[in-house]
Amino acid sequence: MSNMFCFQCEQTAGSKGCTGKAGVCGKQADTAHFQDNLTGALIGLACAVKNHQPTDATHRAILEGLFTTITNVNFDDEAIHRQIENVHHETSALLSNSSDSIEDYDMTKLWSENEDVRSLKSLILFGMRGMAAYAYHALLLGYTSEEVNDFFYKGLSAISENLDAATLLSIVMETGKVNLTCMELLDKANTETYGTPVPTTVPLSIEKGPFIVVSGHDLHDLYMLLEQTKDKGVNIYTHGEMLPAHAYPKLKSYPHLKGNFGTAWQNQQKEFIDIPAPVLFTTNCIMPVKDNYRDRIFTTAVVAYPDMVHIDENKDFSSVIKKALELGGYPENHQMTGINGGTTVKTGFGHGTVLSVADKVIEEVKAGNIRHFFLIGGCDGAKPGRNYYTEFAQKTPKDSIILTLACGKYRFNDIDFGEINGLPRLMDMGQCNDAYSAIKVAIALSEAFGCGVNELPLSMILSWYEQKAVCILLTLLYLGIKNIYIGPTLPAFISPSVLNILVEKFALTPISTPDDDLKKILG
Ligand code: SF4
Repeated sequence: MSNMFCFQCEQTAGSKGCTGKAGVCGKQADTAHFQDNLTGALIGLACAVKNHQPTDATHRAILEGLFTTITNVNFDDEAIHRQIENVHHETSALLSNSSDSIEDYDMTKLWSENEDVRSLKSLILFGMRGMAAYAYHALLLGYTSEEVNDFFYKGLSAISENLDAATLLSIVMETGKVNLTCMELLDKANTETYGTPVPTTVPLSIEKGPFIVVSGHDLHDLYMLLEQTKDKGVNIYTHGEMLPAHAYPKLKSYPHLKGNFGTAWQNQQKEFIDIPAPVLFTTNCIMPVKDNYRDRIFTTAVVAYPDMVHIDENKDFSSVIKKALELGGYPENHQMTGINGGTTVKTGFGHGTVLSVADKVIEEVKAGNIRHFFLIGGCDGAKPGRNYYTEFAQKTPKDSIILTLACGKYRFNDIDFGEINGLPRLMDMGQCNDAYSAIKVAIALSEAFGCGVNELPLSMILSWYEQKAVCILLTLLYLGIKNIYIGPTLPAFISPSVLNILVEKFALTPISTPDDDLKKILG
């Protein structure tokens, strides 16, 4: 098998691209080729939809295929091969009553395109990969959007077409627009199904006895596991991006949803060593599994890893529960801490909660007690440069509010930042898709103050790692939000000319040092 090419995430080799036998994330060259073949098949399916009516099965094949190729989701060649077969099956079904024939798109054409065209097409493709994850979670709760489904076909077809830069740039912006609809859809799906999140303190200690750790983003999987473990003597702990689940009333009503295990996802290879419990991955981020705990890892949905037990769509978690009972958990209560030694973290400050105290927030701003809002959001990674975000949060002035979302918050969410007249200084809005909450709050504040979002005392300090961050960034740019600080490094797939456009049009700014950036922001 030839060498791979992949440059879709922040940790890509040398900030240029993973080009050898394996990527920095552990993805093997064979797996990268299978993922390219899957993407090529999806582009073929999208082209078939131009002249043929898609079905629910077509929509689902697109979502699952795109989601599968997100960083740290699927390392299993056989599982990816089955997806390719499924996409071919859907393409054949669409073409069955016609003489049309469609070839899969050859992804090496994209990787060898002119660098600006490749950059714009990559922004569309990687943005759609992130958006597909949100659409998939919403679909499982019974929520779909025609606008979102239609766009996947348009965006995927565009990868194979000979389009000029201006047209591609307009599709890049449309990716951001449609992702706003998609995040709104998922917010509606989550809140109508599980209730409006409420502020919740989550312990980081593990009670003695059998337990299961649930990682990823899928609230529906967590809900079904909670149902199946009722009265089984097995406690449930969230991990990584599942933390905000504690704030949803319907989920928090289960007394055996006890707390959160460990810190950020990139610490799993240390934190899962000798863990006396199984871990269920519902989405990213799964890292190469260490021998020490490989008998305890279970996957479901589009996540897969060679030789791990995969729970299929019937969602029968009995093998996970059996493993938890066999392992038995810790013999005594086990105290864990956050990265900074804290023993609890808080979440549940979505738009429902923040807007319910909007009057108080506005009053405090008008009285001069709140000088600035910082949205420190995005996904975490393993590089040391990411300490920037901890330092930045710690250096924000005491008369400022810090809003967080996604998993970058684990760098500092166990620190007590205090309060401003009863309002907590650190408010976690939830998962990465809850960027929708931040947007709703920003728009509400701008209406209350009679100004545009860019005139608000609000700065967005974003960290990116994988493709969900790409679609969120595109949404913020589509909304015309300027002066976003982004790090720890710029995406390798953004060419110098495309970067120039983003800098000139949106004043997109690479992070520098916390002191310098705070000085620039606060003057
Ligand atoms: Fe490299 Fe990231 Fe691609 Fe993995 S997902 S191969 S680390 S660019």
